Amino acid sequence: MSRPVTLKELATSCEGELSCSDDQVLVARILVDSRLAFRPENSLFVALKGAKVDGTVFIPELIKKGVKNFLVPASYQPDPGSAAFIFVKDTRIALQKIAEFLRSEFTQPVLGITGSNGKTIVKEWLGQLLSLHYSVAKSPKSYNSQVGVPLSIFEIQPFHQVAILEAGISKTGEMSALKQMIRPDIGLFTTIGSAHDAGFADRESKLREKLLLFTASKLLIYCQDQEMVHQIVQEMYPADRLISWSDHPGADYTRSIQEKNGKTRILLVKKDLSTYTFYTHIRDRASLENLTHTLLAAMTLGLSPKKIQQGVDQLRPVDMRLTLKDGLRGCLLIDDTYNHDVGGLRVALEFMQQQRPKRRKILILSDFLQQGKPSWIYPEVAQLILDYSLDLVLGVGKEITHLQQLGVQNFQGFPTTESLQKQLHTMDLADDLLLITGARVFGFERIIQQLQQRIHGTTLEINLNALTHNFNFYKRLIHPQTKVMVMVKAFAYGGGAPEIANHLQTLGADYLAVAFTDEGVALREKGIQLPIMVLNPLEASLGHCLAYQLEPVVFSPEFFQTVASWTAEKRATLKIHLDLDTGMHRLGFEKTHLEVLKKLIRQHPQLQIASLYTHLAAADETEEDSYTRSQLRAFEEMTADLLPEIKGTPLLHALNSAGIVSYPQHQYDLVRLGIGLYGVDVTGNHASELLPVSQLKTSISQVKELEAGCTIGYSRKGLLPRGGKIATLPIGYADGYDRRFSNGVGHVLIHGKKAPVIGNVCMDMVMVDVSDLDVSVGDEVLIYGADIPLAPLAKKIGTIPYELLTHISSRVKRVYYLD
Ligand SMILES: *Cc1c(COP(=O)(O)O)cnc(C)c1O
Repeated sequence: MSRPVTLKELATSCEGELSCSDDQVLVARILVDSRLAFRPENSLFVALKGAKVDGTVFIPELIKKGVKNFLVPASYQPDPGSAAFIFVKDTRIALQKIAEFLRSEFTQPVLGITGSNGKTIVKEWLGQLLSLHYSVAKSPKSYNSQVGVPLSIFEIQPFHQVAILEAGISKTGEMSALKQMIRPDIGLFTTIGSAHDAGFADRESKLREKLLLFTASKLLIYCQDQEMVHQIVQEMYPADRLISWSDHPGADYTRSIQEKNGKTRILLVKKDLSTYTFYTHIRDRASLENLTHTLLAAMTLGLSPKKIQQGVDQLRPVDMRLTLKDGLRGCLLIDDTYNHDVGGLRVALEFMQQQRPKRRKILILSDFLQQGKPSWIYPEVAQLILDYSLDLVLGVGKEITHLQQLGVQNFQGFPTTESLQKQLHTMDLADDLLLITGARVFGFERIIQQLQQRIHGTTLEINLNALTHNFNFYKRLIHPQTKVMVMVKAFAYGGGAPEIANHLQTLGADYLAVAFTDEGVALREKGIQLPIMVLNPLEASLGHCLAYQLEPVVFSPEFFQTVASWTAEKRATLKIHLDLDTGMHRLGFEKTHLEVLKKLIRQHPQLQIASLYTHLAAADETEEDSYTRSQLRAFEEMTADLLPEIKGTPLLHALNSAGIVSYPQHQYDLVRLGIGLYGVDVTGNHASELLPVSQLKTSISQVKELEAGCTIGYSRKGLLPRGGKIATLPIGYADGYDRRFSNGVGHVLIHGKKAPVIGNVCMDMVMVDVSDLDVSVGDEVLIYGADIPLAPLAKKIGTIPYELLTHISSRVKRVYYLD
């Protein structure tokens, strides 16, 4: 925060009612996540209401930890005298009001960015350019939401000379709060696209809402080549406040682009014919557009073209994401090598805190290259390191050694990245969790390469933010008290069970389910603590169920008897779930079994019935509505019959992802979320509200020019009658790329363009036709992802998205990230 503020100031700024004896108490930190209460004394905890929990439930625990100040809803009834409370109508709005107040005290220029795509990249690039000359505050990662923006504003420090803040909205009405907080002096609008269309009446209303951010801006930078943007910007804002650019004449800056010797030249010509030239290695259209926005913003903020060019030489395509990768010898790596400021470090440490427990927590970091080198940086970093109780800190650079004097124990310093790399093998790294974060010039990606498990070039990227989004989407469709069981069977639908299960644990899922006992054991061994139901346990695995607290499903009288005898002999008790067959006809008790079942339940109290459920056969098909309803009726009859025999109150559940959408009145006590979490809506009604979670990517191994009449691959199935060009990709049916995609049935995307499969898919490779594309070895290839969705691809080869997801081989590296 820019300065410590008194409780009185805080209460006044958010129009809250303060109850405490001393309103001059100073607050230096505002918390919204109860897990992060490290410096409790002078923190204020804001109890927000989440999709899952109400923040007020954490208050007693936080008081024990030493937190003394709270912002709570007016309805909250604290123990008298326990702490200081500010009561408000809505805690989220209050948080925003406090941010407004702190923002108003910052008198240096604030640049606000919004748009559908590119805003985070432009923010990062601009941050990189400016920080070579100024002390810059910027939103960490993509903290651009209703809560992210306040948190970004709290990161602003008194010595910052400029702040770059990003705003992102997903539905109507959201921009007004963001605008009040950010109040950008200079605005930048990137582009309008399809993201979040569902939250708005139409594309135009979405655009108008986004543009509200700039109501109070003195200047607005935008590209006038999107016609709708140009029109509405002109309608909303007077011409003398606009800075436009275009690839065609008529704008304030006309851009032309030329490629020469592998470099791109960007020429910006002003109306008065003054000319600015920049050179870059960047080639693709979208990145060049982001770069042009960055250049104009830097110029508008007064940076000379020469200084800008120096910065551009150091820019690389930013990967903003915080990624989680498997390292050698069981280590887990958090790769944050693209980002190095204190706000980003805090976010990365928070992410680290949420990972599965490992042997040690190790931080590798470099000098901070923040301009002006403010004296607070290293004390702040030292404090963060203490807060997150790291076991080992490896520092690269000269200044980072200050940490030692600042009380960081277990610190080892290295003058250069190479010298650290030489020593890494002596550090006994095994089963550790490492966070690797450093300024660009230190080239920490070399450390990642050294520590990362290399399998082969194909990766499945899992976007944890998208997973969160989808989880919350389904949460909103059900009652707050309804529990959520997430199906993580089949390696979490291909996504990688332990990391996904861990993330679900932090999101507040109530239960997990796996298909087989082994899958449950693997989760327990990775430290997952949620209750786990096993759909299809075998008798031989009951010992594991007991040892690992896994809860088997029992689905027949015979199996009930087996489990009962086994537990009786062991003098053990076991939680079990009963599967009732109402029409799926897979596993489960049928109506005719109920009398026997009741008797078994009475005879074997050592088996505690945790739940009764049924599985719907066709919840995703509207034409089967009457069948589904008959299943639900049968379930209600069967449970009514069984419940009087059961001690305790077992949970009742029936709905899978499609059921949650179509039969919400039958959610009972719990729902079982599966494919929807992974971004596939099988009902087709909410596809645009879910975000794709996984992207399967690879890169080109070789490009070949072939003459007319050549054939390609096995059985000479691929044919180029007029000749052309093919690219060979290191992915085949053994990786899960279905052989039915052979001979043009499937396609991939390279630089956003379609390249059809040519010839037969091989075991480890596939060839694609790139005759019309400009591609080279190493270029990224998208196999599945947001722009190449699963459902239509699956349909082409006569299958369903479930199969494509779960077939992705375990030899494909999984990488998790927050964007
Ligand atoms: C797989 C499964 C689910 C989840 O189904 P989705 O269609 O993926 O949502 C729910 N319940 C049971 C018993 C399952 O086997």
